Amino acid sequence: MNKRDDNKRVVIVGGGPAGLTAAYDLTKHGVKPRVFEKLDLVGGISCTQEYKGYRFDMGGHRFFTKSKAVRQMWDEVMGETFLLRPRKSRIFYRSKFFDYPLKPGNALKGLGFFNAVLIVLSYMRWQILPYRKVESFEHWVTNRFGKRLFNTFFKTYTEKVWGIPCSELKAEWAAQRIKNLSMRSAVKSMFFKPKDTITSLIEQFHYPKHGPGMMWNMFRSLIDERGGQVQMNSDVVRLNRDGQRLTSVVVAKDGVEEVVEADAFISSMPVSEFLKKLDPPPPPDVLEAAHKLKYRDFLTVCLIIDKAEIFDDNWIYIHDPTVHVGRIQNFKNWSPFMLPDESKTSLGLEYFCNEGDELWTTPDEDLIALGKVEVEKIGLARGADVEDGCVFRVPKSYPVYDSDYTEFMGTIRDYVNSFENFQTIGRNGLHRYNNQDHAMLTGMLAVRNLMLGESNNLWVVNAEQEYHEEIKDLEDDDAEEGESSRPPVAAER
Ligand SMILES: Cc1cc2nc3c(=O)[nH]c(=O)nc-3n(C[C@H](O)[C@H](O)[C@H](O)COP(=O)(O)OP(=O)(O)OC[C@H]3O[C@@H](n4cnc5c(N)ncnc54)[C@H](O)[C@@H]3O)c2cc1C
Repeated sequence: MNKRDDNKRVVIVGGGPAGLTAAYDLTKHGVKPRVFEKLDLVGGISCTQEYKGYRFDMGGHRFFTKSKAVRQMWDEVMGETFLLRPRKSRIFYRSKFFDYPLKPGNALKGLGFFNAVLIVLSYMRWQILPYRKVESFEHWVTNRFGKRLFNTFFKTYTEKVWGIPCSELKAEWAAQRIKNLSMRSAVKSMFFKPKDTITSLIEQFHYPKHGPGMMWNMFRSLIDERGGQVQMNSDVVRLNRDGQRLTSVVVAKDGVEEVVEADAFISSMPVSEFLKKLDPPPPPDVLEAAHKLKYRDFLTVCLIIDKAEIFDDNWIYIHDPTVHVGRIQNFKNWSPFMLPDESKTSLGLEYFCNEGDELWTTPDEDLIALGKVEVEKIGLARGADVEDGCVFRVPKSYPVYDSDYTEFMGTIRDYVNSFENFQTIGRNGLHRYNNQDHAMLTGMLAVRNLMLGESNNLWVVNAEQEYHEEIKDLEDDDAEEGESSRPPVAAER
């Protein structure tokens, strides 16, 4: 480290996994970064919310990675408080529960023999005569599994998550998330136990004792201890530029605006918001592209149930189209330390929606009432046993890959890359469907670019076909198959 590094003034926007990782890594170079987080808690989408001593994830957050650097950082920060937890999950479809990952006997029983034969015939038909032009998610999955399996295990859940027909969802999404999946690998994994490393990723996962927010609070404390600063309730409302160089950010806190100058800026806010907050504004085509980027949002209805045990899954995918809920988490199965009272059960019912739509604007008490009706309809708990509840809304939880997004992203990428002292990182910062580990990796690589003069391309993290060599160096290939080698089903999250 040289003297100049020590004095470098770095501003980071966002106290989620990407921003905190970048800040923590910078402290290792002797830099004392200033992180601005607009909310009153850290962790972003990976935060842990609390209500009357009960802890809730915004969607259950498993910790798994194939990056050595990320794994090392998790261990370094969490130590003993990082639990290894067993995984159990099922799919609820047409009033039946299917083990997930699928198991042959259970799947056959759920589908029925006749239906299973039709699935095989449909698979054969689509192998012989596939869609020639693979543009949509529906094309991609149908070509791999046949139309009947697509309709059974992919269509309804995927449409609940994204709120658009599978025919309008880009094939690229499937290619990114379930790329290694084929009928052969799916059937093989139903009959044979996978190799050790894969087993560990599928059947177990790491999880902080008090939920993901615990990890991000520990990051925050370490950054503060090392002379950095994570400033809460601090909304970055404007970013001032002089040509292609950022000069300062304007931070609003408690109704007062502060101008903060820096030498370098790293942002994990949605890239569309970054562009809209630039002063002077970017060229009209860039601004137009920013306005066209879309997001999917969701809300969690949390229910506290006066029963010690109701089911032993960590989560259940609700493919069934007769209820609105998309997925149900049972938090005591993630960690028993998520509840203050072991005689109760706490659930998180995830409803996918768009900010401002009917569901999003439904009053909390009505959403809790809906949750009670739906858990009873599915047969998981009696509405009368629900003794309390609360609701958390999570805006911009999913970047949408719609049919035009690649074109807008090209325009945005070129413009953002033209800045000398600015990098955008993380899930919404790069508009990529990244998990925590990939969000963290973009933070680490941004720091390497800044401090070591490397030129890692952050836009291709998690777009593995294009991975740069530098990024590969941070990966550990023996865990490659982990997430994607599972049997057929729609979006994991
Ligand atoms: C339902 C669901 C389930 C998931 N499950 C998993 C899982 O099991 N495992 C896993 O690894 N990942 C999971 N993920 C993904 C994970 O949540 C994200 O990868 C991760 O949170 C991304 O981190 P980030 O820092 O890039 O962004 P974010 O988490 O979005 O954090 C960005 C931060 O920036 C702040 N911010 C935004 N604008 C401003 C501003 N103007 N000024 C100041 N601050 C600002 C936000 O408040 C936020 O705190 C899941 C996601 C969802 C939606």
